[in-house]
Amino acid sequence: LEEQIQRNDRLATIGQIAAGTAHEIRNPLTSIKGFLQVIKYALKEKGHVKEQGYTEIMLREINRINSLVSEFLLLSKPRNIKLRPLQVTDVWNEMLPIVENEALLHNMEVHFVTERSLFPLVVADSELLKQVFLNLCKNAIEAMGEGGMLTVRIRLEEAEQKLAVDVQDTGPGIPAYALDKIFDPFFTTKENGTGLGLPVCQKIIHEIGGMIRVSSKEWGTVFTVLLPYID
Ligand code: ADP
Ligand code: MG
Repeated sequence: LEEQIQRNDRLATIGQIAAGTAHEIRNPLTSIKGFLQVIKYALKEKGHVKEQGYTEIMLREINRINSLVSEFLLLSKPRNIKLRPLQVTDVWNEMLPIVENEALLHNMEVHFVTERSLFPLVVADSELLKQVFLNLCKNAIEAMGEGGMLTVRIRLEEAEQKLAVDVQDTGPGIPAYALDKIFDPFFTTKENGTGLGLPVCQKIIHEIGGMIRVSSKEWGTVFTVLLPYID
């Protein structure tokens, strides 16, 4: 419990800093990005291929800062959550093309399994749920690198009165030492990771009364999101 309180404090602090500085960072970035795009096209027109390449790198890096700021913002406290009863399968159907496209680029198969045609409704914010599922898929894809299989399964855990969403990959798995740390802000094993994806996911799921479980072995990893449903 002590640890949980400390963790929450840390998240709240990060959130406060984020809320205070996000716009200060975003506004100048937007104008830098705009002018950079102009420069990029000017260089293209003049045939300066190498310099055009540099501007592309700069634009990519700006996008990286932007997504870091977004993740920071998600950790910040005041946020209007729009809770509505929804079908989790609808949320998935809306975002599956994005995931499939990303997987295709890396020669991965995507299996989407629903154990029944209609599930009980879940009370949640669909945008935030999408964010969670996308984050889990992104991690799965990053873990597999090239090739492999991403399986998404929606099912009921009736004993626990929860709707379960499994996001399973055939990646290398998570080593035991890391399993305790993956939900800590800034814990990352990636060169370009932020370590904020999973803490954000966990915060969102806790806010809607659910939980996230993880199980990882040599065969890969499965993250399970458990959501309370309406009977
Ligand atoms: P990031 O993706 O920026 O590193 P996350 O919070 O999303 O931050 O994930 C934290 C760490 O958890 C990752 O760096 C990785 O070590 C581990 N991880 C998360 N998902 C998986 C997965 N599906 N397979 C293996 N490792 C994972
Ligand atoms: Mg991540």
